[in-house]
Parts: sequence; structure tokens; C-alpha cells
Amino acid sequence: MKYAEYLKSSHWRELRQAKLAGAGRACNRCGSTDRIVVHHVRYRNLFDVELADLEVLCQECHDRHHRDNPRPKQYQEHAKADANDERDKLRQRMSAATASYNEIHGITKKRKRRRRR
Ligand SMILES: [Zn+2]
Ligand SMILES: [Zn+2]
Repeated sequence: MKYAEYLKSSHWRELRQAKLAGAGRACNRCGSTDRIVVHHVRYRNLFDVELADLEVLCQECHDRHHRDNPRPKQYQEHAKADANDERDKLRQRMSAATASYNEIHGITKKRKRRRRR
């Protein structure tokens, strides 16, 4: 499962809501209630997350935290997988667009190949 999909799952949404409710929807570090995010203190695996693995932060404290602490390797791998997935989707869309352009203009693969030489 892709990380972006996981973030839309009911597992994560419920966990996130429970954490937010427990923290009174306020930043654990500065008490701000503005732009609240739920941060992973520990990052094990998708679906292997407990309330204790999370921390409620405001966007500002979260940004500051990640400036000093790079995101865990597992998170980076998920993020990279998502980025690759997006790139593949884009590539597929582009080759589909090229194929339909070629079809409309009667360009066959053979001609295209010759032109490239
Ligand atoms: Zn804060
Ligand atoms: Zn974070």
C-alpha cells in the first residue's frame, strides 16, 4: 500500500482523530491550536502504529522538528515509492497521449522510429 493511500485509510483517520481528541487538539510543544498535524514519533510500519507513536504538533513545531530530525528511513521509502508511482502514472498518461496523437495523425511506430535516426 502506498503511503498516500494509507493516509486516506480509516485505520489512520481513526487513529489520528483519537490522538487529536486525546491531545485536546493542541500542539504538544507550544499549545497552539492552529494548523495541527499528527506527527509520527516512531515509525514502524503502516498499520503498526499506536497512539503512543504519535505526537500532536502545530505546523510550525512540526516543520521545526523535521528541520532538525530527518524523517525516518521507512517514511522516506514510502514517500519515494509514492513519488515513483506518480512518475509512472504521468509517464503512462504521456505515452497514452502520444499514442492517440500518433493515431490521429496516422503516424505509425515504424515512421516514428525512422524519424528518430
Ligand atoms: Zn507548536
Ligand atoms: Zn512528522
